[in-house]
Amino acid sequence: MSCIFCKIANKEIPSSVVYETENVIAILDLSQANQGHTLVMPKSHYANILELPDNIASELALATVKVAKAIDEAFHPDGINILNNCKEAAGQTVMHVHVHIIPRMKDDGIEIELANNEGKYDLSSICNKIKHYL
Ligand code: 5GP
Ligand code: ZN
Repeated sequence: MSCIFCKIANKEIPSSVVYETENVIAILDLSQANQGHTLVMPKSHYANILELPDNIASELALATVKVAKAIDEAFHPDGINILNNCKEAAGQTVMHVHVHIIPRMKDDGIEIELANNEGKYDLSSICNKIKHYL
């Protein structure tokens, strides 16, 4: 497997490990969008969040919250973004699922902007469509 995050998780290539459990590892993102920018990922290879079995999803979510709290204590950022890019169209560049924890400061210049389409869609129909698969 030539996946870079598999190699990091297996300690075949070095990284700055901030936390790990049996199935999950958290490392500093090389890019450091802001100081403390961390990636949390399963140690086993899953391409994206849609592939995760429940037990790994749970461990990933718990580790993400735990590390976010530690980053908050360590750097006292003004805010934190927790985000996952799922598939290329959503901005995923490394195809091994990972969650970004990005400490945010007021006026840090990072832009994550969502369109406001309030009133454009039929919410009850959207709601039912999703619920059908849950
Ligand atoms: P994505 O765009 O897939 O959501 O994010 C991939 C992230 O992985 C990027 O923020 C990038 O900086 C980070 N990254 C890519 N290669 C490496 C690496 O070898 N080591 C570490 N620590 N981070 C990496
Ligand atoms: Zn992998």
